[in-house]
Amino acid sequence: MSFAGELDDVLARAADAGVAGIVTIASNLEDAVAGAELARTSSRPRVCSTAGIHPHEADRCTSDALVELERHARSDVVVAVGETGLDFHYENAPRDQQIAAFRSQIELAERLGLPVVVHARDADEELAAIVREYAGRVVGVLHCFTGGEMLLRAGLEAGWYVSFSGIVTFTKYRGADHVQAVPGDRLLVETDSPYLAPVPLRGHRNEPSYLQHVIRRVAELRGEAAVAVANLTFENACRFYGRGS
Ligand SMILES: [Zn+2]
Repeated sequence: MSFAGELDDVLARAADAGVAGIVTIASNLEDAVAGAELARTSSRPRVCSTAGIHPHEADRCTSDALVELERHARSDVVVAVGETGLDFHYENAPRDQQIAAFRSQIELAERLGLPVVVHARDADEELAAIVREYAGRVVGVLHCFTGGEMLLRAGLEAGWYVSFSGIVTFTKYRGADHVQAVPGDRLLVETDSPYLAPVPLRGHRNEPSYLQHVIRRVAELRGEAAVAVANLTFENACRFYGRGS
């Protein structure tokens, strides 16, 4: 895990920065185990975890792995299935395996009544088709959203949430209209730490306490107060993950 040995400090800085809750995201079965352990042992901020296999590792999403994943996903600290999705940019796993792994995990989420955390990169068309197909059966979040208008529409029409990361703080960011287009009750924010540290902390390892920079920029782009965006996205996260505020 990226914060091994420093977790107490990282969590203390998050709490000091006003972070009320953290969802630690799994990319594989080992992460799901470590995340659940962290969730069980941390209370400030409150930590929840997920169980999923990332599209980069979709070749590991065998039928045995899915059985194991389901066992983890049934844990009481797990609030979502994911991270799953499609990444045709890096294409670390073959596309057909990514699509099969994504479908299996959406169906697992549906069976367990959990939301899905979805990664999408350079796969808008294929991903939008799957979102439409499962609309009304599963709710998801398009995490770290950098997709196009068509995928955004498909997600919103299916009742999904859209989450923005530190990418919104980059000077080259061109998605202001997407940040503005997401209805207030579907908006989420995230760090995606340890990746994607926001401006003005580029070059550092990202961590949950940096979320304030994402919130400030999202608020600025939407013409809203940062505190309003902080409160709104916290309420949305509690609703999405099915945990009381
Ligand atoms: Zn991702």
